[in-house]
Amino acid sequence: MTVPCHKGLEMNNSTFTLACRLRLGLPLPSALTAEQCICGTTIDPFGDHLLCCRHGGERHFRHDCLVEAFRVILREVKLPANSEVLLSHLHIRPAGVDADQKRADLYWVEDGVGHFGDVTVVHPTQADPSFAAHRTINRANGR
Ligand SMILES: [Zn+2]
Repeated sequence: MTVPCHKGLEMNNSTFTLACRLRLGLPLPSALTAEQCICGTTIDPFGDHLLCCRHGGERHFRHDCLVEAFRVILREVKLPANSEVLLSHLHIRPAGVDADQKRADLYWVEDGVGHFGDVTVVHPTQADPSFAAHRTINRANGR
């Protein structure tokens, strides 16, 4: 067991119990789950849909927490990083992507060279066809 190194990582007993149930693949207490998600899907007893649904916000919340954690780590090693930087602000216009809409999760400069960081939150039961599209675009524009 790891002792939380700062306040933001602490969990109360009920949150810790829920985290353990999710980690061990145990059904969630019925009091914590509605029968139907706001997207109309019936919720499974393990809460998998809630962790994958694009409408519930949990996936974005976890993504944003991870981006912030990486940003803090980069700053701690003296690499000031910005998050959610529009590609157009970096004068980058990849083929097939609207640079005024597309953002880099993280951007930092090290020894005069710009670096990008991308955070993708996945779940073992998630069927997400956008991963193939992301991979194709990233490989087409990567160096
Ligand atoms: Zn849903």
